[in-house]
Amino acid sequence: MTSQLLLQDVSVAYGDFTAVAGISLSLEQGQIGCLLGPSGCGKTTLLRAIAGFEPVSAGDIVLGGQVISAPGILLPPERRRVGMVFQDFALFPHLDVRRNIGFGLAALERTERRARVDDMLALVGLGDYAGAYPHELSGGQQQRVALARALAPGPDILLLDEPFSSLDTELREQLAGEVRELLKRNGVTAILVTHDQHEAFAMADQIALLRGGRLAQVDTPYNLYHNPATEFVAEFIGQGSIIEVSVNEAGELNDGLGALDMVHRDWRAGERLRLLVRPDDIEYDELSQLHLPVTNRAFRGANYLYELRLPDGQRVPCLTPSHVDTAPGLSLPVRFNLQHVVVFKSGVETSGV
Ligand code: ATP
Repeated sequence: MTSQLLLQDVSVAYGDFTAVAGISLSLEQGQIGCLLGPSGCGKTTLLRAIAGFEPVSAGDIVLGGQVISAPGILLPPERRRVGMVFQDFALFPHLDVRRNIGFGLAALERTERRARVDDMLALVGLGDYAGAYPHELSGGQQQRVALARALAPGPDILLLDEPFSSLDTELREQLAGEVRELLKRNGVTAILVTHDQHEAFAMADQIALLRGGRLAQVDTPYNLYHNPATEFVAEFIGQGSIIEVSVNEAGELNDGLGALDMVHRDWRAGERLRLLVRPDDIEYDELSQLHLPVTNRAFRGANYLYELRLPDGQRVPCLTPSHVDTAPGLSLPVRFNLQHVVVFKSGVETSGV
């Protein structure tokens, strides 16, 4: 299958400052990608380069088989088949919903335009609001108008710049799920920019995690969580602690923490390893001999997130069912589930299945 969007070794500079460097990415038709990373890592810059607002200083961007950006080539934004949804939705306050959605359809003949807007209204479930003005709509409804307006001209790709950040947390999660379903149902290729990994997990097929303008890892949400390439990725994505352990020839860890899968071993007895421990890598087990003191805990409704102290003082997270009710100061019987645990050596992943 050919890529709908292809970034090949793309760099973008502001004067002497290279904001993003050497980014390669590929999205198939109908796939949802996500640019994720801490503030200032270059997410918006890359999105603006795809939209045509910034030229690339190296590499090229190919959309639907056409080179739209390369050094010396910059197809202007209005000639790219790109739809955009902005953080603040950027709706026209003096136009009603119908006119907002129809804004980019000036080239269509009147009845055709009307039919297209009707389709879009139905698509986002706002058929009853065609005559409403933006200020009469809730945040979630405004968001859907913005989405309908961006999709109306049938773009080759939809760019979503922090589209949920002005909404409250609960609505954000609900809308992320709804928008994903809508895009999937209609086979829309899209790229989302966010610094919120829950949003990225809920929306994306593929996440590009950026750090300091470079790609830290491009992968599925599952692999970013379970097979992080570096300690940076491990710490940025999901909860967890990286702890130092020693391991003997049999693969057993110090302090009775359990044994590592020997199939993937490439360590020597007595060696110190760095282990990524996710909350779900430690299980509550009434029969376990290993009792760890509770240092903190947070009730999360369906479960408890505990923080436990290892004998050497390091802290690890542990997720339990919500009826496991042990106060800080007491101990919890637990078992390390080391089957899938990720092992780092000097910051480089050496194992992890
Ligand atoms: P945030 O999550 O805070 O929006 P971001 O990941 O989107 O951040 P960018 O806005 O792409 O990051 O910025 C990347 C880098 O480029 C930053 O160091 C920023 O200061 C710099 N930068 C962004 N826009 C410009 C500009 N117009 N001129 C010069 N430097 C810029």
